[in-house]
Formats: sequence, structure tokens, C-alpha cells
Amino acid sequence: MAFLIERLGLFPAYFTAAAFVFLRYLLLAGFFFFIFYNWKKQVFAKVKIQNRSPRRERVMEEVRDSFLTAFVFASVGLGIYYLRQAGLTRIYLEPGAYGWWYLPVSFFLLTFLHDTYFYWMHRLMHNPRLFRLLHREHHRSDNPTPWTSLAFHPLESLVEIGIVPLAVVVLPFHPLVLLAFFFWAMFWNVIGHLGYEIFPGWFVRHPVFRWLNTATHHNMHHSRSGCNYGLYYNFWDTWMGTNHADYLSTFDEIKSR
Ligand SMILES: [Zn+2]
Ligand SMILES: [Zn+2]
Repeated sequence: MAFLIERLGLFPAYFTAAAFVFLRYLLLAGFFFFIFYNWKKQVFAKVKIQNRSPRRERVMEEVRDSFLTAFVFASVGLGIYYLRQAGLTRIYLEPGAYGWWYLPVSFFLLTFLHDTYFYWMHRLMHNPRLFRLLHREHHRSDNPTPWTSLAFHPLESLVEIGIVPLAVVVLPFHPLVLLAFFFWAMFWNVIGHLGYEIFPGWFVRHPVFRWLNTATHHNMHHSRSGCNYGLYYNFWDTWMGTNHADYLSTFDEIKSR
């Protein structure tokens, strides 16, 4: 953001950042949607999680919601710029300042922090009052597709991105790590909402990979209630006993077709 503001000025930088978020969404969600819902639809038909097609009207609403999300995310980017101007963030520019090893470590740390934040904030948003106010819009998609990945009520978008200003105030992060994190978060979000189970059949019982969530996991969160709250990892759902009782059998059923 600082890079854009210094070169373009405040308002052009803000709109460029929003356009960047929205374009990244259009390209990534569009790419996966085209492959799975058009071009290679027949190839992947067997691993489609729900046996119905997404409604066109809902997809249009999801793209509209995501357009608004882009402006919320850009606003928070602007907020971080001002936090940094005030000397309140620990963002650093010299990549070796904390040791080169710290770059990948801080990336994984940020994904774990985000996952923890997401899990608890997500559970909180399923409280009936908060759900109506913040989270219902996202759950109007009971058969999610890649287009669902940023389809939030603007207030939920603000809550979703809230981890980033918190993290950069508390811990040192290099801008490249933050950039990589934003791409990874978007990519994982698209995979979670894909609507097709693309991971291999052994995945959910592998000693390492079982700790990663799957498209089936988040799809069940959308189609049932009170289960599967995690984002990237399965740690919190396992520790708190919130994986759906049929998660593994549903995954097995899809992969055995
Ligand atoms: Zn939810
Ligand atoms: Zn979702």
C-alpha cells in the first residue's frame, strides 16, 4: 500500500488496491470455475461434492459481494499504511533483518495465527444474533463454488481481514511475506469453496496431510450446521471436537465413486 500511495497518491492508490483484490479474485475464482464447471466438468463429475449445479443468480450475487469486499480490504490496507506512518506496526523492509529463516517461518506463523483467529471468530459468528448481522450472507451459498470465496457482508469482510492489522502490530513481517500470505489465503479460500474434492483418497488419514482441511470439509460447513469451522488446518476442529461426525465417511464416499 505504501508503495502505491507514494507513487500514485491516496485515492488512486486506494482504488488500485481495491482493483487488485477484485482482479485477483476474478482471475483465481474464474480460472478454477472455468476448469471445474465448464471445460473439464465431465472429467471431474465423479468428485463433485453436491449433486446439483450452482444457481446463476446466486453466483452474480457472490461476485457483487466480492466486489464490495475488495473495497473493505483496500480500506484496511489504508488503515495499515496509517498505522505504519504512526510507527505502530512492526513491518520491516530489510529481508535479512531477522534472519532469512524468519521469512518462511513468519509465513507459516501467520497462516497458523490466521487459522486460529478464523476458527474462533467463525464460531462466534455462528451465534444466532451475530450470524444474522454478519455471516448469513456468506451462508446463503449452500452449494459453494470458487465465486463464494469472498462473498461476505461488508461487515464480515472487515472482521475477516481484521487479523492482518492485529498481526502486523504484534509481530514483525516483511511485505513480501504479507503478499505471499494474501495469495495463499485467496488460493486456499478458492480450494475450500471449490465444490469438488480434488485431494487423493488417502489424504484425510495421512499423519501430516490430515491436518490440512479439504473442499469436502468446508462444503459440509455450508450444507450442514454446527460443524467444520477451520480454514487451512484441522487442528482446532480436532482439538475442539467440531469436525462433523460424517466428515471422513463423506470424504471416503466421494473418493470411492
Ligand atoms: Zn460459517
Ligand atoms: Zn465458506
